[in-house]
Amino acid sequence: MTVELISVGTEILLGNIVNTNAAYLAERIAVLGLSCYHQSAVGDNEERLEEALKLALSRSDIVILSGGLGPTKDDLTKEVTAKVFGKKLVEDPHTKERIQAYFDRIQSKNGITGNNWKQALIPEGAAVVDNHNGTAPGLILEGEHGKTAILLPGPPNEIKPMFERDIAPYLNRLQPEGIYSKMVKVCSIGESRAETMVSDIMDAQTNPTLAPYAKTGEVHFRVTAKAKDEKTAEALIEPMIKELYQRFGDKIYTIEEDVTLEEAVVELLKEKNMTVTTAESCTGGLLAGRIMNVAGASAVYNEGYITYSNDAKEKLLGVSEDTLKVSGAVSADTAAEMAAGAAKAAGADAALSVTGIAGPDGGSKEKPVGLVYVGCFVNGKVRTEEFRFTGNREKNRDYAVVRALTVLREELICL
Ligand code: ATP
Ligand code: MG
Repeated sequence: MTVELISVGTEILLGNIVNTNAAYLAERIAVLGLSCYHQSAVGDNEERLEEALKLALSRSDIVILSGGLGPTKDDLTKEVTAKVFGKKLVEDPHTKERIQAYFDRIQSKNGITGNNWKQALIPEGAAVVDNHNGTAPGLILEGEHGKTAILLPGPPNEIKPMFERDIAPYLNRLQPEGIYSKMVKVCSIGESRAETMVSDIMDAQTNPTLAPYAKTGEVHFRVTAKAKDEKTAEALIEPMIKELYQRFGDKIYTIEEDVTLEEAVVELLKEKNMTVTTAESCTGGLLAGRIMNVAGASAVYNEGYITYSNDAKEKLLGVSEDTLKVSGAVSADTAAEMAAGAAKAAGADAALSVTGIAGPDGGSKEKPVGLVYVGCFVNGKVRTEEFRFTGNREKNRDYAVVRALTVLREELICL
């Protein structure tokens, strides 16, 4: 069963509004196990809408149109659909009543204008889907040729509840198999190596499927199963997850869709009853910010340091003048002293430090842009890591944050 989307509205074409309806519908359709091979956007123009609808009906079983159901002249979706399906527009008494009730409820001072009644017109034979958040009802029109058009209102606060309440169950009846998935999130490994480690699975995959997504400093694998219900899907997905654990071991930090790396790290700190602090140069607070993304981070984090200048590194963290002179601010030695100094100053059990050259300026042959050192102090011991990132300033700083969190995680899981 294939579904196709047509977003109607000139403001979409002009880029005045972002087509969030299409993103929402596409995602929901995929989860319902339906295939969607085409989407289009068309302006409030009768001819072009007709052309788009005919094309969509020629290659898909169900066409979902969003927008253009309102009372104004430029709202043409219903008229055009009726024409393409060879149906007359007839008044629907039930919808007329609902429109009256809606205006009574909101006690519109201006009363009902003539064109509001236009919304009570429906293509003959269409099923009406009540709109609980507006006046224009949704419509399902099953044509004699076996093709169906589903007309939904444009405003997101109307289309979403309508889809969830009535359209999703309708589609579900047509396509009883749904799509279920789990996300396996891996850190401490590069994207290409991670992919190589599962290439045999990816070559042989059928149900479930495995798809890798490269994230900054992480790799996520989506395991997706098609099944008639969640329980059956879980039974399909579980062996694949087990296999991934076999291959990646504790590099997997979560199999929960919503859990982030920083949440996993904060959770580990809580488990071990430890506090952490941060000493940042080139990331200038980004790392602390990431940790603070986690609700309840205050249980593990009290204070931190942004030490951009050499002076600040000496004054706040006690990095020695000698180290800064001999090894330089961007060095493993400085990263180590920053981490140890921060832990001491904050009285924390663990500390992460970051010092590097984010770019675009400040690089040299020995110390190029993208060179970053991370220091990790845990229970009296310091580990340092050197990284050579190749992104722009923003990317290099983002990578540094993720790598720092990864290093801390590696240390914590060994305790
Ligand atoms: P109305 O009764 O409000 O006229 P309608 O069904 O005729 O609703 P449109 O006139 O096409 O829908 O759009 C109304 C509003 O809904 C737009 O101004 C816009 O804010 C929002 N909207 C329409 N289409 C989309 C879309 N594809 N994505 C996000 N928002 C949309
Ligand atoms: Mg409109």
